[in-house]
Amino acid sequence: MNDKLLLDAFSALSVGVIVVDAGYRVTLWNAWLEAHTGRPASEAIGEDFFRLFPDLRHHRVGVAIQQAVCHNLPALLSQSLHRSPFPLFADPSQPETRLSQAVTIVPLGEGERYCLIQIVDVSMAVRRESLLREQAHVLLSQSLSDGLTGVGNRRYFDLCIEKAWRDSKRSNASLSLLLIDVDFFKRYNDRYGHQQGDICLKQVASAMRNALSGKDAVLFRYGGEEFCALLPQIPLMDALEMAERLRASVQTLALPHASAPGSVVSVSIGVASLNQRLHSDYGQLIQAADDALYEAKHAGRNTVRASAACWAERLASGEQ
Ligand code: GH3
Ligand code: MG
Ligand code: MG
Repeated sequence: MNDKLLLDAFSALSVGVIVVDAGYRVTLWNAWLEAHTGRPASEAIGEDFFRLFPDLRHHRVGVAIQQAVCHNLPALLSQSLHRSPFPLFADPSQPETRLSQAVTIVPLGEGERYCLIQIVDVSMAVRRESLLREQAHVLLSQSLSDGLTGVGNRRYFDLCIEKAWRDSKRSNASLSLLLIDVDFFKRYNDRYGHQQGDICLKQVASAMRNALSGKDAVLFRYGGEEFCALLPQIPLMDALEMAERLRASVQTLALPHASAPGSVVSVSIGVASLNQRLHSDYGQLIQAADDALYEAKHAGRNTVRASAACWAERLASGEQ
């Protein structure tokens, strides 16, 4: 192969190629670099590499070039650690965002030492990766949220309560749970239709979510017309207060429910708090909140009740 053919091949490469000699003088600068630096080969060849790229002298790239020349050591600089070391642009006349780069540095030559620097534009791969990450994030949040109301779904609740349970056990911190059920909802559907029922569930969820906002608490749709709220680090008395705020937020909506005794849509709420003596797994905490919800229903609905067992434990422990 003759020299001309070799240079033509270098010019046609879609990667940047620089060769420097042992004194860091540029001896080869291909067309790709001309296109992405705006500097022609005639200006670059013979120039000191570190005068062309002063920022790289103490950068990992500069160190790697010195190691290649002095110690015959190759180096691969991944784009995740060194995203854009060279000032390279898609269009150098508009130098806005640097290309993302993967840089390989290889020692060349037997007696007289040279160093080959290859630069690959990985901007597309980086963009694709970040798009995929965003899409994965969207899919994950979709898979954990309830399609109708937008609050966390049952699957997300299962994940959260398991984690909250472990955290609370480990640090001996409080953990409370509210189980929330819309009152007379079968009658609501019967009277206003299932579609209106769906709208009602959305409004109820939104009111309760607003009432919880700003707190370290998450609202979930537990199933059907039942919701739950997980309150990490919140003891029983504070949880009762929050439950009352949720109940009031739904009543304040004043959604007409002509088939309910109060004539507006309401919720009943059962409250339970983790007690190390009573609960050896989180299923027992859920059961305690469910028992309390049953009590709230029997007390006439549109009301809040604490788990009797949690309450008794609290009194026995002498807490105020
Ligand atoms: P209670 O006060 O004792 O809770 O009475 P209730 O009528 O609310 O309870 P019940 O369990 O008898 O009925 C719940 C109703 O909720 C029945 C079901 O059709 C309705 N429901 C469950 N999921 C949905 C939903 O996604 N959309 C609509 N519109 N209705 C739902
Ligand atoms: Mg129910
Ligand atoms: Mg109900």
